[in-house]
Amino acid sequence: MAYQPSRRPRTGGRPNSGTRSFRPNRPHNRRPQQNKRFKGAAIHPSKFINRATVTGVETPYAATHQFSDFPFSQQLHGNIAAKGYITPSAIQDQSIPHLLEGRDVIGLANTGTGKTAAFLLPIIEKLSANRDLLSVLVIAPTRELAQQIDEQFRDFSRGMKLYSTLLVGGANIERQIAQLRRGPHVVIGTPGRMMDLMKRGQLPLKTVTTLVLDEADRMLDMGFINDIRMIVGQLSPQRQTLFFSATITPSIQKLTEDFLKDPVTVSVRTADTSERVDQDVVVAANKEEKLAKLLELLGQDEFEKVLLFGETKYGVQRLSDNLEKQGISSVAIHGNKSQSQRQRALRSFKNNQARVMVATDVAARGLDIPNVSHVINFDQPATYEDYVHRIGRTGRGTATGKALTFVEHR
Ligand code: AMP
Repeated sequence: MAYQPSRRPRTGGRPNSGTRSFRPNRPHNRRPQQNKRFKGAAIHPSKFINRATVTGVETPYAATHQFSDFPFSQQLHGNIAAKGYITPSAIQDQSIPHLLEGRDVIGLANTGTGKTAAFLLPIIEKLSANRDLLSVLVIAPTRELAQQIDEQFRDFSRGMKLYSTLLVGGANIERQIAQLRRGPHVVIGTPGRMMDLMKRGQLPLKTVTTLVLDEADRMLDMGFINDIRMIVGQLSPQRQTLFFSATITPSIQKLTEDFLKDPVTVSVRTADTSERVDQDVVVAANKEEKLAKLLELLGQDEFEKVLLFGETKYGVQRLSDNLEKQGISSVAIHGNKSQSQRQRALRSFKNNQARVMVATDVAARGLDIPNVSHVINFDQPATYEDYVHRIGRTGRGTATGKALTFVEHR
């Protein structure tokens, strides 16, 4: 069976249990009205309206390898099977052979494509043979993504006595220093905390022979370019470098030229997210009306698992509290929360205890959340790129997602 992301395929419409179906105003269908203005709109509202052009079930990727074709240890094969992986995803199928050969690889792939296992499996295989301490460094843009990589590392290396350390902000740095002193095999973290540890002389990098830069484009968006250059500048040039990004911009291109040697590029980018997500706007005159319309939408059964975006940490928390008061189970995720609070919130959204998660852009980046039925932009994103990242949280895998954006209209 081919790789199927864990999302229920949707065929046709879903029963609406008698509630009034959502009919947003559609300004694009009307004549332009000169006297009406959209408040504070950095992006023209027409950019938020789009019918999905890729619908239904796509042809599954035909992998050219089975996991059993890869020369992994029996234990690693067992751990892959225990995770329920049957067939390699496209990025795994196409990059693992090059990675096993020791080549540098540029992987053009998004979260949700299976890229984490694509780099972890060859790394674990190599480690189980050489067992070199502090030999693998993985840099990721957000705490949550770093955490997800660490969890996958633990699953895939079960029973092999291979150890990792997670270096992210919001967690006790002294404990991280103590863990580094014990000599883990793999170090996974975010650029900020790694820089902090490096400045304290506590991040040993001389022994690193494999470097992974995950979601490099997001790290650049988030302003980590100098930190990354500083960290990578400390590494031995005799290393294997794996570089993942969803896009190739001129600055990403420059990084790959500076960091990689004779790389192989593997691209598994499929239809643009925006082509597989039904997008529309909801017009409201003011904040009160926005909230009223939001509650009306969330009252419909079809809004099963909703990722709601707000602009500020404070606004996100307030919105989530408001929903809770209205009896809608909701959690918030933003930078003012501790690492453990963010994890708890993410977990309860993932396992459907909370129907709504309200997030800021930064907190939601790179998260792998299956089955999000709707993305709602309660506050508009600052840039179109942010918009595309936001709506990319729905319509994953083979399904069509839905995205709604509030526009204030006076
Ligand atoms: P990633 O893109 O690495 O964040 O992975 C997205 C999701 O797909 C994760 O939940 C993985 O556990 C899952 N996944 C990755 N590769 C496979 C595979 N070959 N078969 C089934 N599930 C997979």
